[in-house]
Amino acid sequence: MEPIIGIDLGTTNSEVAFIFDGTTEIITDNDNGILPSCVSIGENGDIIVGAEAGNQALINPEKTVLSVKRFMGTDQKLKMGELSFSPQEISAFILKELKERAEKKINRTISKAVITVPAYFTDAQRQATREAGEIAGLEVVRIINEPTAASLAYESTNPETQRVLVYDLGGGTFDVSIVKIEAGVVEVLSSTGDNQLGGDDFDLKIVDHLVKHMETEFNYSVKDKPAVMARLKRAAEGAKIQLSSVPYTTIEEDHIGKKGFKDLHLSLELSRTEFEEMVEEDLARTMESVNKALKDAAMLPSAINKIIMVGGSTRIPRISQMLEEKIGHLPHSEIDPDLCVAIGAGMQAGREMGLEHSGVLVDITPYTFGTSVVGEVDGEPSGTMFVALIRRNTKLPARKSDVFYTMCDNQEVVDVKIYQGEAPDALDNILLGNYMFNLTRAPSNSEIILHFDLDLNGILKIKAVEKKTGNNIKAVIENAISRFSDEELSQTQDRINGLWTEGRESETPLKEKVQTEADIKELPSEYAGIISRAEAKLAQASEDDRDEMINLIEDIRDALSKNRMEDAETFKKELDDILFYMG
Ligand code: AMP
Repeated sequence: MEPIIGIDLGTTNSEVAFIFDGTTEIITDNDNGILPSCVSIGENGDIIVGAEAGNQALINPEKTVLSVKRFMGTDQKLKMGELSFSPQEISAFILKELKERAEKKINRTISKAVITVPAYFTDAQRQATREAGEIAGLEVVRIINEPTAASLAYESTNPETQRVLVYDLGGGTFDVSIVKIEAGVVEVLSSTGDNQLGGDDFDLKIVDHLVKHMETEFNYSVKDKPAVMARLKRAAEGAKIQLSSVPYTTIEEDHIGKKGFKDLHLSLELSRTEFEEMVEEDLARTMESVNKALKDAAMLPSAINKIIMVGGSTRIPRISQMLEEKIGHLPHSEIDPDLCVAIGAGMQAGREMGLEHSGVLVDITPYTFGTSVVGEVDGEPSGTMFVALIRRNTKLPARKSDVFYTMCDNQEVVDVKIYQGEAPDALDNILLGNYMFNLTRAPSNSEIILHFDLDLNGILKIKAVEKKTGNNIKAVIENAISRFSDEELSQTQDRINGLWTEGRESETPLKEKVQTEADIKELPSEYAGIISRAEAKLAQASEDDRDEMINLIEDIRDALSKNRMEDAETFKKELDDILFYMG
């Protein structure tokens, strides 16, 4: 069977995928599979494609072409040194590189490909893409839309009709599309966006901030210094990427300039909040496009079954938040947003070859992990508002941090509680761990940074850091993922919900709720005895012990009612141990 490859020919980056034994994989070449869409001409007239060409862009911009996709379908001539090329020819160099990469891996000659294009591409732009393929020695058996490819990557094995919103924010372009998938057939219902908006604009916002800082701090202007500006741009992008997983980062650039005999060193802290303020307007504009795409598809947000994230910039947490607020559910990004379109192209290539495929393999967390803070639950003040750090469906390994604040001046301690679940009230979730963190004397609103690190084996590492002093505590929760099956999770939630509402209905605080004789009567005497002893001691127990005791009492009742005598015995022993230690 003749092999067919799938190619995402992107504005900033390109990738190639192929179906191996029923699974679509990105083909790598000593890298992560991402080939920067940069073409350059070297000293000896040799053509360079990829990261190396990207580096050339800084030194020899006149010998380098970036973002050729923007010119596809036009007659524009693109210059590299003395030579001039059509956009198709430049794109062909990128395609050739990907073709060779695939041939090396598959060990066969490849002459056919599926290539993706934006949904808004005109006929002329599509035709230019075909021509680029032909120049590179590839028959383009099919051109598919990028949102179609992304939807295939997620939904190709789902038999149900799905309405998917594909939010695609890359380095230089933004698209949003509404896609319908029915019996494996994908239809783009609407597509809109802004092909001049992306991560590069966000980098420039940070660069502006740095330029202003250098002017005020050192009275030093860098605007007319391209080499310094290039360094700032690189540092800004690095900081932006960092801020997707940590709440603060420090931009350090030593020897960034010279004033008289004095070397200037840049060191500036940037918070995620500051960055979010810088890009808030741009992100709000993308949400307007989401509204327009929904309107064009004549759909209400509630009709959307799934949101798919495509493009590196969708890793900015504020975007997920905004989409969740608008559509009402969490976006999916478990298939790498940089690779999702290429994977879909690879799947389509597999289809063209008549192959079955079993979808994509990704390791994700099925549960959300977070902590509790003082805030609001259902509009009411609450001391147990749940804040998620690692959300369900996040690809593993996952690393997230967020910042929290102390409540009062000279607060001596903070009680860090770690929960698994989704409910807005942390008490309705599963408590995984509880750690006391001693603080140094400081005014209220001092920052505490909480880091979560969840690995492929389900081990959750926690670190809480007092920002001012760097003092920290660490903890490890083994089996954070596997300790609850779906069924167990829902049972535990039901139980906790039940307890909670019971406590509220009777308007008796839980700690004072004592079981009546009638409740205990039907239990075997050895169980009734220990439960009544435990309940008599609830009021004097510490908060932790009290929760644990209430849980164990419920566990015993539950096990007895289901005749799980062995479990009942284990729970009884645990309860007995607590009572023993309480004296
Ligand atoms: P793409 O065109 O899809 O390859 O996306 C490239 C853009 O994604 C660049 O502007 C990157 O700086 C940006 N990007 C990549 N990773 C992240 C991240 N973790 N957070 C924010 N932006 C990112």
